[in-house]
Amino acid sequence: MMRAVVYRGANDLRVETVPVPKIGPHEMLVKVAACGACPTDIKKIQYATVPPPRIFGHETAGVVARVGAKVKRFRAGDRVALHHHVPCLDCHACRHRAFAQCEQYKRTGITAGFEPAGGGYAEYVRVMPFVLPGVVKIPDRNSFLEGAMLEPVNTVLKAVKRLALLKGDTVLVAGQGPIGLMFTRLLALNGMKVVATDLFETRLRIAKEFGATKTVRIRSANYANHAKTDESPHPSPVTRHPSRFDAAVIAVPSDAVVREALELVRGGGQVLLFSHTRRGAESEIDLAKICVDEKDLIGSYSADFLLQKEVARLVFSRKLDVRRLITHEFPLEKTAEAVALAAKPTAESLKVVVTQS
Ligand SMILES: [Zn+2]
Ligand SMILES: [Zn+2]
Repeated sequence: MMRAVVYRGANDLRVETVPVPKIGPHEMLVKVAACGACPTDIKKIQYATVPPPRIFGHETAGVVARVGAKVKRFRAGDRVALHHHVPCLDCHACRHRAFAQCEQYKRTGITAGFEPAGGGYAEYVRVMPFVLPGVVKIPDRNSFLEGAMLEPVNTVLKAVKRLALLKGDTVLVAGQGPIGLMFTRLLALNGMKVVATDLFETRLRIAKEFGATKTVRIRSANYANHAKTDESPHPSPVTRHPSRFDAAVIAVPSDAVVREALELVRGGGQVLLFSHTRRGAESEIDLAKICVDEKDLIGSYSADFLLQKEVARLVFSRKLDVRRLITHEFPLEKTAEAVALAAKPTAESLKVVVTQS
């Protein structure tokens, strides 16, 4: 038996004792060392958008505890970072590289029991055969915490590659939470001028360290809130010093910021949505900005398995030093607290991780 944090309904996470998963000949069992608290899971937990019971947690790193007889690439004792979604590379969606829309990709290949949901908030997880190709070994000098960050970094790198930018272009990155800061760093590494905005000065300082050319403190709380309190944030400090943005990345779930960004990008530029993951919230935009001004409104969701090597290089070489982003660690029993903090970030909190020894 093992301990696990089981989702039993909206905002109801309980520490329970469940069976250690059994593995088949093509599978492996991993002892979890670190698992990040991800906003996508948090939304599912808060709003109960999926039926319970489930064991969440998909930004997982740990040690291989046991391998099935047919698994060749890994051995017990290997330190690994897991990847819970792997596309088939063969279907219609995959041939268009729309991996997140592939039926196999939508299946979660890592579980600690119940309907597979990642399982990282448990002592052990079972890694199914179809996600084994996504597992990466963690070099000796890197930590499990760094390994657990591969998945979120992958989602950001995938989104960056959706932007049609030329070196030296100017990009607005709205929101400097862990995800926004990853965008700032990866765009700066690619030679872009980044204008970073956030409500918190502490985050803007890190944005500067991560290569932002300019940082702008936003004072209106509307900027960070969801559509419910959505009024126009004008005049925001960004609008008062307009630049010609070639693209804007929206890493805050605010519709007002999307409208502002559609205003601020040049004709033919792109606005990329990254945080608007809640279904059903409709929004008004001036469609002529898209038709006449040829501004693209695009989205990016989830990871691109084929980028995993590049992501591992960026993180493990510390070109993108994710250690700077991890501010809080909680033990498994306090997963509910970890989720609560990640859902309501403070000036000092960035990435929150559940760790086990
Ligand atoms: Zn995630
Ligand atoms: Zn496919």
